[in-house]
Amino acid sequence: MKQVFLIATALLLMSTTLGQNSTQRGRLEKHVYTLAADSLNGRLGGSPDAQRAAAYISRQWHDMGLKPFANNDGKYNMPFELRGRSGFSNLVAIIEGNDPVLKHEYIVIGGHYDHLGVRNGKIYNGADDNASGTACVTEVARNLLGHQNELKRSVIVCAFDAEEMGLCGSSALAEYMEKHNLIDRVKLMMSVDMVGWLKQGGSLTLEGTGTLLNSNQLTDAKSLGIPIKITSKRFENSVFTATDTEPFAKRGVPTLAVTTGIKSPYHKPEDDADLIDYEGLDLVTNFMAAFTLRAANQPGQLASGKVAPKHRNKAVPFNLGLSLGYNSNGLNFPEAAFNGKTLLGWHAGIAMQCNFNKSLSLHADVLYSNTRSPYPDIHFLYNDILRLRQQSVTVPLMLRYSIGDHTAAMYLSFGGYYSYNINSQFSFTKEVAAIDKPAYTNSPQPCRTHQWGLGWDFGFRLGYNWDLRCAFLYQLNPLFNDANMPRTLNTYTSFTLTYYLM
Ligand SMILES: [Zn+2]
Repeated sequence: MKQVFLIATALLLMSTTLGQNSTQRGRLEKHVYTLAADSLNGRLGGSPDAQRAAAYISRQWHDMGLKPFANNDGKYNMPFELRGRSGFSNLVAIIEGNDPVLKHEYIVIGGHYDHLGVRNGKIYNGADDNASGTACVTEVARNLLGHQNELKRSVIVCAFDAEEMGLCGSSALAEYMEKHNLIDRVKLMMSVDMVGWLKQGGSLTLEGTGTLLNSNQLTDAKSLGIPIKITSKRFENSVFTATDTEPFAKRGVPTLAVTTGIKSPYHKPEDDADLIDYEGLDLVTNFMAAFTLRAANQPGQLASGKVAPKHRNKAVPFNLGLSLGYNSNGLNFPEAAFNGKTLLGWHAGIAMQCNFNKSLSLHADVLYSNTRSPYPDIHFLYNDILRLRQQSVTVPLMLRYSIGDHTAAMYLSFGGYYSYNINSQFSFTKEVAAIDKPAYTNSPQPCRTHQWGLGWDFGFRLGYNWDLRCAFLYQLNPLFNDANMPRTLNTYTSFTLTYYLM
């Protein structure tokens, strides 16, 4: 009885192992469970554990007949150093295309196989991040090998090391390709990173479709016959997150970041193989294989020529943005050597900036500003009884010096401003007898229409869209039309938040 049981168990095990390996889904499951096993200790970049993970992937690739890209002793390994330390290694293979011209062009598809290792005694298995992507890329490669006869462009398949340490593996490969004059041949680079949570994420997101021509047709899953929901994002836009696309995108290569999102326990020890949606991962793999084949065979150029702002390697020559802020306006009496109190107002408008180089630019705003200032008339004991309101269109023009780049910078500017006064009037905050009201308060437009002065500002560029600054403007020509009034000047301190649209 016991023997029968043992035999039955053995048969059952054999059949499940066979079953597992005979379907793509079974293989995906096996890859993820193997790579995200506790025995690999979280595959810390460059560690012996990561090397064991790499050996597993290499074996898979070798068994399916993938050809090493750089052909170093028949290995996929392309070792690189990181801050003087060795032990790091990308795995890179090539599936050669057949078109006599297009075979010299590359579609790169990669996923990082490293993760966070062990922290505080806890193993970070990184099943979704990124055993899922590594498994997907491996099975995409197998699928493409089956279609190699149809392939026009060549496909480069990568498993990157040390992504979690700062995109180091993908940087090393992009550098290698640049050094060997191959980078211009890369027509599309895709990073498959965290694709194991399709059901929970709802769709497969492709970030960077804006870098491709005709991306809608190209990425259309229906015409590929794959029942998967695709969410297209024109560009990767968060400055705080990055994936292996970045080193390629910064070299002008069109890129797609492929992910089911961060619904999984992102960078937590709970990111385990049993939580992965394998049915979804299977679908993602089918889509990526079909899409890669389509991209590899697409005639003409693939690049739209557009790059995500975060991937630009230099500032664009011109920026345009929307501004909103508040100001604190006071009046200054140079002859009396006296500064009035200030009151808060607001302003809004557009910001424009011409960038001459990385550090020097000319910045202009066109702001509608609404300011209020107390007017300290001698007739009133409290100087906030009488107020001056001004509505103007103010145009500061500043020469700006920045330290940093287009994604993060601090700056200092000097210049001047012109202000067109649309409306001005005095008002009283308390009931005041007509007899007490000084004659000048009856003037319908006490302020000059044209006003100008000097100014300076300092601020911070936060990400490529946001900008926060503090500006100071000092009027030079007299504020009031009435020559009998004491010489009065606006002093204007403002805080402005700008969102750059381009
Ligand atoms: Zn990742």
